[in-house]
Amino acid sequence: MSVQQTLVLIKPDGIAKSLTGNILTELSDTGLILVGAKIVQVTRELAEEHYQHLSEEKFFDELIRYIMGEFHVKRVLALIYHGENAIAKVRDVVGATNPEQAHPSTIRGKFGRITTKGVFENVVHASESEKEAEREIKLWFRPGELIQTIYPVESRQVAKTEIFWKQEKK
Ligand code: ADP
Repeated sequence: MSVQQTLVLIKPDGIAKSLTGNILTELSDTGLILVGAKIVQVTRELAEEHYQHLSEEKFFDELIRYIMGEFHVKRVLALIYHGENAIAKVRDVVGATNPEQAHPSTIRGKFGRITTKGVFENVVHASESEKEAEREIKLWFRPGELIQTIYPVESRQVAKTEIFWKQEKK
């Protein structure tokens, strides 16, 4: 057993079906610590990078459209959980990839479905290994968005324009 971190995405079907609260409760019951969270509009670039290992699959195009929210709402909730054995603990409550094979006590078993077009609408994503978790967390989050430094960081000088809340004129 080791201390790990894992990326969870509440996918657009989970958001559209108002399952966020139920899913957060199940994840909280693992005892893991939430160290990052944000709502994201998934671009095609991010979707294709996230699912790069599936690019040869016949369901790839539908999968990209699904995670981008074309069938539901255009947002996902991205979460990072940290703690002992985080990857297996989260995957246990998430259940099997195919929602029809997922145990009925799991998130996917309770709330997932397969559409008539064959898309696995399985409500959540959860990293499958330490290597994948690191790749995914670095893809979805910047170091400053986490309340804990979980991978080594470096500073770089960059010149950029930042957006601020507009100040009211007095
Ligand atoms: P997991 O999300 O359980 O780690 P994979 O990485 O293999 O599983 O697949 C990523 C996502 O692609 C799945 O969560 C699911 O949405 C979709 N998917 C996987 N296999 C299939 C399939 N045979 N048919 C349709 N969609 C699939």
